[in-house]
Amino acid sequence: MRPIGIRIEYVKAKVGELRNTLGLKKIPISVEDVIKSYGIKLRYVFDIQFPTLVRYNERYAIFIPPSINMQRERWSCAHEFAHFYLKHYETFPVSRFINGHYIDLLSEKEIYILERECDIFVAEWLLPKEQFLEMVKFPVTLDQAQNLKKIFNVSLDSVINRLIELGVIKNRKELIIEEPHLKAVNRELSDRLLRSVLGIRKV
Ligand SMILES: [Zn+2]
Repeated sequence: MRPIGIRIEYVKAKVGELRNTLGLKKIPISVEDVIKSYGIKLRYVFDIQFPTLVRYNERYAIFIPPSINMQRERWSCAHEFAHFYLKHYETFPVSRFINGHYIDLLSEKEIYILERECDIFVAEWLLPKEQFLEMVKFPVTLDQAQNLKKIFNVSLDSVINRLIELGVIKNRKELIIEEPHLKAVNRELSDRLLRSVLGIRKV
């Protein structure tokens, strides 16, 4: 069997299944704990370029090159886990170790299909639609996106992509950046108020 098209509904159903199995609603999700609970080894390796999931003798291991961005690392771990959970290795003739060499048996287009499935999986898993939308307030500002980034422990790019994907904003430019001078005016007002309340003269 070879990948023919991106199975969006299948991927979403699998995320629902995983969520039911875990029975956890706590945000952010501990990706590492989930990976370990499935008996997958997780290792940080310095001399590899890309995160990789390896299947060897029916066992799985995820190798991650350490980066300075923890959120990106977490996203990568979840992405590799998605390859496992969506059974890509079992269903398709995907990369294997042959004579110690790592080779791809799929075409570029077929690999792209599987990559997209994993990206959809991760967005659905780490930024669950209902919980995510519940926390969005209008108008959506950059500060708010930064806040969502902290709550869900993902990168700002992932938050913005999800906002676009769920139709909250059309593009990045729609994110409202609060004008610094408005903040400064507020600060000045509160300083003045504080001074008058406390009877402090301006220094
Ligand atoms: Zn991948």
